[in-house]
Amino acid sequence: MGITFDILGAPGRDNALLVRIDSGQSIERLLFDCGDGCLNGLSFSEISAIDYLLFSHLHMDHIGGFDNYFRCVFNRKNKPNHIWGPSGTGRIIQHRFQGFLWNLNTKMSGTWRVTDIEKEGTSTIRLELAEAFAKIHIEECTVKQHLLIDRPKYVIEAYVMNHRTPSIAYVVREKTRRNIDTDRLEQMGLSPGPWINQVKNSSDLTENVLINGVSHSMATLQEALLVETKGDSIAYLTDFLLDDKTIAELAVILRGCKTVICEGQYRHSDLDLAHKNFHMTTVLSAQLASQAEVGNLILFHLSDRYRRKEWIEMLLEARELFPATHYPPSWQLEPLNQ
Ligand SMILES: [Zn+2]
Ligand SMILES: [Zn+2]
Repeated sequence: MGITFDILGAPGRDNALLVRIDSGQSIERLLFDCGDGCLNGLSFSEISAIDYLLFSHLHMDHIGGFDNYFRCVFNRKNKPNHIWGPSGTGRIIQHRFQGFLWNLNTKMSGTWRVTDIEKEGTSTIRLELAEAFAKIHIEECTVKQHLLIDRPKYVIEAYVMNHRTPSIAYVVREKTRRNIDTDRLEQMGLSPGPWINQVKNSSDLTENVLINGVSHSMATLQEALLVETKGDSIAYLTDFLLDDKTIAELAVILRGCKTVICEGQYRHSDLDLAHKNFHMTTVLSAQLASQAEVGNLILFHLSDRYRRKEWIEMLLEARELFPATHYPPSWQLEPLNQ
């Protein structure tokens, strides 16, 4: 149960984030961005199992590896095919789809939806493989502001940030887990049955539950038996201006978030450059993590203008503000004495 993740790609190269949400019954996979070579370490079946692809924005370093993804799933039918990103994503993805020859298209099928996320809401188009992705079908908009995806076990929130162009910050939150206290169940002399799920899932405290022919109040059963555990959470923040106003706004949204994956593009002595290019420094990312009181900060998307020694210094600068700051373990950039 819970959320696990991998940062894909190497330090100083294109990166992406693969998130797995394990509900106990199934695992859902989310891919955030898809830079060049990011999927190289994943098998065909792992790529095919990705449920949603969510782009922060469509600069080349975030979409360069898209063809590797699309090749595995272009005619997928066992899952919905859905891509999300900022304004203009639908138009760009349609061009990507049409960048191939589809002379066999009428014999094949596959339905794709692409959603543009705007400040005011979203707009979704549908593209069909059987039509060689030539026609745009406008879909009805159903998304409430910020609440992008609402699944039984988790939600994904989206926030439009400023990278001189819109860039989307995403937060994935598992819903509160509800379990039954089995010791208490035994003490009460109740035998488990289908009624357990009724107690776990009901929000109607006035209803009654029949257990072995005896009626019990839902309110009493929930009070006695339910154990609620706060779900995991993970945020994906990259490529936007992190000024004081943005830090204050994001600190409210991210308060208590367990893991924040955040760009560490520049070192803080290059703050002017970071602001000029609407990017972050590792120290600004740490300032946000500290202000939002998050659990862990994982820095990624490092600039290749620096060498390994400087990347380590950038990590140490961030740790002065927020000690629980790390690089992905696979990068082996953590200083040896830490
Ligand atoms: Zn960018
Ligand atoms: Zn970038």
